[in-house]
Amino acid sequence: MASTTSRTGADPWTRELAAELDRLDARSLRRSIATPEGGQGPRVLLDGQWLLNFTSNNYLGLSDDRRLIDAAVEATQRYGTSVSASRLLCGSTPLHDELERRLARLKRRERCLLYGAGYLANIGVLASLAGPDDAIFSDELNHASIIDGCRLSRASTAVYRHRDLDHLEQLLARTEARRRLIVTETVFSMDGDLAPLPALLELAGRHGALLVLDEAHATGMLGADGAGALSHFGLGDATDGPPVVIVGTLSKALGSVGGFVAADETVVSYLVNRSRSFIFNTALPPAAVGAALAALDVIEAEPSRPRRALALASTLREGLETAGYSTAPSETQIVPMLLGEAKTALEMERRLRAAGVLAKAIRPPTVPEGTSRIRFNVIATHGPADIEQILEAISRPSPDA
Ligand SMILES: *Cc1c(COP(=O)(O)O)cnc(C)c1O
Repeated sequence: MASTTSRTGADPWTRELAAELDRLDARSLRRSIATPEGGQGPRVLLDGQWLLNFTSNNYLGLSDDRRLIDAAVEATQRYGTSVSASRLLCGSTPLHDELERRLARLKRRERCLLYGAGYLANIGVLASLAGPDDAIFSDELNHASIIDGCRLSRASTAVYRHRDLDHLEQLLARTEARRRLIVTETVFSMDGDLAPLPALLELAGRHGALLVLDEAHATGMLGADGAGALSHFGLGDATDGPPVVIVGTLSKALGSVGGFVAADETVVSYLVNRSRSFIFNTALPPAAVGAALAALDVIEAEPSRPRRALALASTLREGLETAGYSTAPSETQIVPMLLGEAKTALEMERRLRAAGVLAKAIRPPTVPEGTSRIRFNVIATHGPADIEQILEAISRPSPDA
């Protein structure tokens, strides 16, 4: 737990930082790092206590899967622990090329480009595709990496109300910028809801906008073979719409680490030449690439995995709603339990933890003021008894009451 940090003896710089941390503490907004021992499965060992883990993005339970571990070891034995350079300076292996081909095929785009992280992919795409004369239209609940990409691009950025296409259309009608770019997550990371893709594609087409879709939470989970949200809506092979650039991460359902962009050949070639977070960043280590390739094999062979996580999440939603909590508007493996104030969310986090359940309070600025919540990430290696344990914990009277 955070303690008072003000240190009177410290230099003025450090004292100011410490005072700021104290203010965060007083508002229940201070964050800290928790380090479990022994990996990231459905259960984790934290401070000597085994807890059911609902904080992980390991949606398919693949990060401790033997097949991924073996593939990472094999890739390391063959190619070493690091490629020690940017892709443009020879920092590549045949595995990198193969993973790009596989991801391009999965996403039904001409070409794919790996990045060091999803974060780097988002800032790389937005900052290189849009410039000071262009206009970006961004959903208000988009991830921080998208917000940072908008800022780096120096384009004028208009934020539209969450999933509100009428608002988006008004903003589009008002812009004088020739080049327009719409950016949205396809599965939103805090509410677990879906972007209205069919209508968004239509709108982007009508306004001559390029559409950037962040599939961080959809890849591996939705659509045929985990292809993502476009496939979920039956739009995976659509070729007559606006240009679509797909951003994704290897670090969630795919159980590895790294980011990628899938798009037309021209867009990807442009990124290779202009995207600073691609050019000036050491390429992914062979282990991460090998593990992601193995994950794609598992996903193809075991389509029941995502279905299991989604069905468990649906059971959890029903239970929380029955107990009087809103989980709106979640439709996926991400289940918010809306609580309002940051303090209420922290109290619920403590209550769950006392009952052996690890789930994090999500507070501003990650979510808007007044919408603090507990977020449950349900993964394929959880079971029905694990969901039951949550529902029992919340039905007990609060230990502080
Ligand atoms: C996690 C996440 C990212 C960043 O991916 P990393 O690979 O962890 O850097 C980008 N966008 C969204 C929506 C995310 O949830």
